[in-house]
Amino acid sequence: MRYISTRGGGAPRRFSEILLDGLAPDGGLYVPECLPVIGKDTLRRWRGLSYPDLALEILSLFADDIQADDLARIVRATYTAQVFGDAAITPVLTLEPGIHLLRLSNGPTLAFKDIAMQLLGRLFERALAENGERLNILGATSGDTGSAAEYAMRLRRGISVYMLSPDGRMSPFQRAQMYGLSDPNIHNIAVEGDFDTCQALVKRVSADAAFKQNHRIGTVNSINWARVAAQIVYYFKAWAAVATDPDEPVSFAVPSGNFGNICAGHIARQMGLPVDRLILATNENDVLDEFFRTGQYRPRGLAEATSSPSMDISRASNLERFVFDMVGRDPAELRHLFGQGSFDLAGTPWFEAIDRFGIVSGSSTHQDRLTTIRMAWARWGIEIDPHTADGIKVGLERRPASGTLICLETALPAKFESVMVEALGRKPARPSGFAAIEDMPQHVTVLPADLERLMDYIETHDRD
Ligand SMILES: *Cc1c(COP(=O)(O)O)cnc(C)c1O
Repeated sequence: MRYISTRGGGAPRRFSEILLDGLAPDGGLYVPECLPVIGKDTLRRWRGLSYPDLALEILSLFADDIQADDLARIVRATYTAQVFGDAAITPVLTLEPGIHLLRLSNGPTLAFKDIAMQLLGRLFERALAENGERLNILGATSGDTGSAAEYAMRLRRGISVYMLSPDGRMSPFQRAQMYGLSDPNIHNIAVEGDFDTCQALVKRVSADAAFKQNHRIGTVNSINWARVAAQIVYYFKAWAAVATDPDEPVSFAVPSGNFGNICAGHIARQMGLPVDRLILATNENDVLDEFFRTGQYRPRGLAEATSSPSMDISRASNLERFVFDMVGRDPAELRHLFGQGSFDLAGTPWFEAIDRFGIVSGSSTHQDRLTTIRMAWARWGIEIDPHTADGIKVGLERRPASGTLICLETALPAKFESVMVEALGRKPARPSGFAAIEDMPQHVTVLPADLERLMDYIETHDRD
């Protein structure tokens, strides 16, 4: 398997060569040159596989330049009941006949990002050891991404993490989760400013080519191809868990921000997984819903702060992978569209034919979130988090008249206590082991929003 940039630049590269990269050098995103197509017989065989066995089948198609026994060792070490709290890794809970919840949030940080990030930690470690290199991961987070990255990288050799978070703006639970880590390779930096301030600092450090190279600065953002690849697995696994015959199509409802999670669903469908609809849900930050309803892509200046904060994005960084397929994989067209920043495909043959991809969309508000959380408790007796609520709300609205719906649970309610109290009048249940995490000692350095001070900090600790 070889990977090309959506914007057509550079020679095709292998999985290991793009593993540590974000954007391609020409500013595009890496995508497979052509996708493997999974035939009916293989699908039938895959139905009986355990999560690690299925992950190995799928990932060896995409990472075919990693030695088979190395990949097997990494996949088996990643997807264990010990790390994910359940031997099924992503168990499916039937809510009522025809409606299921795909539980993706039982990893170390209680959000679906653990599923890809835990694998990434081990893949990175192996790649760095092979080349005798080190990597300093620099990132900005408003919550889920930062903690998933830290928990994935904390025991990994050759890797340090410098994670910027907005001082005083994360929930007490999220702060305790991140700042509670005492590993010497994990650096929590609380920046005096908001999330955009943090992100701007990361961009400015990365723009300093000499500094970036001297200190081997890398990222783990959602455009990383390996993260998308790892997420393809649970679409196949969920289908296998609920479909009663091998041809039965299912629909998925996916709470979306950067289009990472649902991009994996799109690829699974292109590979031949029987998917009817992929139902995309946004919150008030509806740049993706607008695109799928109207054909207009209009990134916003700033994201609005909402009660499903992990979906508060102003531009959807992975959408380019979908638009590439939509315009018939024409890199010149892609360069033209994304070069403009915003664009309008309404009335084009591509938008007229968008139904062939099965994606439909809708959005949700704070009030919808509260109503859906209450409905889920009254109707099914379960507590769902605000992001999962966005997905279920739009999923129920947009699902086909008949057929099975699988709603993706992207986080546990314990992470978002104040919204849960507002909806249900009580604090949500906490998984065992998380009871008193706010009382643990916290490790964090507060820095002003100052580029020099941040670079000094990295410089000092990179020598340790
Ligand atoms: C990251 C995240 C999302 C959005 O996922 P994308 O891949 O960015 O679309 C949704 N819900 C939760 C809880 C998240 O952490």
